[in-house]
Amino acid sequence: MFQLPSEHLSRCSIVGTKTGDYSVKSGYYVAIGAEGDGPEAEGDFKWTNHVWKLDCAPKVKLFVWKVLKGAVPVGERLLERHIDIDPRCKRCGSNESITHLLFHCQFAQRVWHLAPLATAPDFRGMIDLMADWPALSNLKALPPTGIASGNLVPWIFWNIWKARNRFVFEGVSASPEDTLSSAIRLAREWSISGKPEKTEGKKHRLIEVPVLSGTTRIQTDAAWCSARKIAGIGGIIHLPPRNREIQLKMEFIASPLMAEGLALREVMLRCQDLELHNLRFESDSSLLVNCLNQVVSIAEMHSVVADIIELSRRFASVAFVWIPRERNVEADMLAKRALNVAEPLLVGNAVIAPN
Ligand SMILES: [Zn+2]
Repeated sequence: MFQLPSEHLSRCSIVGTKTGDYSVKSGYYVAIGAEGDGPEAEGDFKWTNHVWKLDCAPKVKLFVWKVLKGAVPVGERLLERHIDIDPRCKRCGSNESITHLLFHCQFAQRVWHLAPLATAPDFRGMIDLMADWPALSNLKALPPTGIASGNLVPWIFWNIWKARNRFVFEGVSASPEDTLSSAIRLAREWSISGKPEKTEGKKHRLIEVPVLSGTTRIQTDAAWCSARKIAGIGGIIHLPPRNREIQLKMEFIASPLMAEGLALREVMLRCQDLELHNLRFESDSSLLVNCLNQVVSIAEMHSVVADIIELSRRFASVAFVWIPRERNVEADMLAKRALNVAEPLLVGNAVIAPN
């Protein structure tokens, strides 16, 4: 059991090597040694400032504290404690250390790559958590995330950990996109209301917008093959009694998020051909919907988002709405089937599809 440092934090003393010089190594040893009786400042590391004063939920601060104390039960840590488990990362098979989980695993790398931070962190080398944390925790989130105080990084830690646990214990594999999206949403809610704890339990936080009469409902989805960088896109334009189905395969697609964006753009072009006026696009990619509604800005999505926004001006009204995955199964099926089509119909961003 790890105890939360409490009132003893008010005592302040400077610790370091015998010579009085601070070194990261001494800071680390002191941190471990300070488990139940720690001083406020350990070398340059000030727990109060660097952890407890973060502008995020208490449970997230506690998690950051555990990360820095080496107290998160990742595979490597459990093995050290002689717990008989497979210490490997369930996603990639590497040794699951805390730095692997949070920074070096491909999954984490993808989350950081997408993260709308003012300075892109580079985690390819060794990470010294205690030394790097003050700068890392200070990275500002870019507008228009709406995260005023800039404390997105702790929420990213927390959401990578939650996604890992869901994957390990429930077999549910969230995408890096969804994981980041969830971190941004929680950070934003915290930043706005300061009390999102009670809302987090609710499964879906994007507000359900009712379908207005005279509006055409359109669902899109994409399936993506990481090995071959190809995507299948699927779309349904609800025009009873005859719904239109769109199913295409695209090559040279860099990410599943890009595939989702291109799916929506392609289906939007079809809506133009059909001379529809009031459109409601439904997607189960909360990150895409957030990009289109300009809640977040993701560098790799700039051009496709700009295309879609430009296209939307040609219609009387366009809404982008998030729906849960289970309500998007038809478009999902079309997308998956499209992946298996022998001949590509689209190449990269260039539309060469037949009607
Ligand atoms: Zn891994």
